[in-house]
Amino acid sequence: MFRKLRFPIYTFFPVETVDEASVHTDAVHANKDGGWWDVHTHRLDGDLQHAVWSCGWKDTVELSPVSGRKPEDSFPVDSCLMEEIPGISKAHPIYISVGIHPWYLTEANFSEQWRWLTESVRSERVVAIGEAGLDKAVEVPFELQLSAFRRVIGVADEYGFPLIIHAVKASNEILELKKKLRPRNPWIIHGFRGKKELAQAYLRNGIYLSYGARYQEEALRSTPLDYLFLETDESVADIQELYMRAAKILEVPEINLREKVRQNINKLFFRH
Ligand SMILES: [Zn+2]
Repeated sequence: MFRKLRFPIYTFFPVETVDEASVHTDAVHANKDGGWWDVHTHRLDGDLQHAVWSCGWKDTVELSPVSGRKPEDSFPVDSCLMEEIPGISKAHPIYISVGIHPWYLTEANFSEQWRWLTESVRSERVVAIGEAGLDKAVEVPFELQLSAFRRVIGVADEYGFPLIIHAVKASNEILELKKKLRPRNPWIIHGFRGKKELAQAYLRNGIYLSYGARYQEEALRSTPLDYLFLETDESVADIQELYMRAAKILEVPEINLREKVRQNINKLFFRH
């Protein structure tokens, strides 16, 4: 029922150079003016030509009270796959990730979410899987989260898409899964807020890190630029300001950081 991998299995790790010939032509087009790439956002008010918009089965206002969206701004999540998205010009490409968020998982809705995911993943707009992951701070039974996450991991691996991971108090399980399953696709921990030691544990296992509005500066400083992304997630932060702040902490010119993340985006998201 899945489409076949569009390209032979590739080695993504470690990645040292950008093969411009292999990147998605839309991405090259979208990137020619630089842009501040936002690897994970739930917002529609930013520069969506340089963002990966995260969609879930039921990404409604009721389910995402912290998103800042007003009821009148909402529309069914399937609209992320609709030809015309309210408020988005048809002239621009839009890149999305589709996943099963552990917060909204129940025994009863899993099969419906799974059906939605396996159908959505065929959309040309999809460039990543997620967010998906494990969260020990919510009531959702951990075993259920784990079994759903393993299946999502399988889809991401099969399609070769980067997996954008939500991880709360579950780093050991994530690392164990990475070692055991040895996926061929890249994994990215989104909204990473952990300490430097945890950053290093993920990095040692080839896992990329994405930093949002809140993080430990020491962890950011310890992250090689090749493994780094920035994101707004559900915050109201300005992505450009996040780049400026990170560049200052990393002591690199902001334009270099922006270019480096752009290269990382092309390497991981637009290789097909
Ligand atoms: Zn998110």
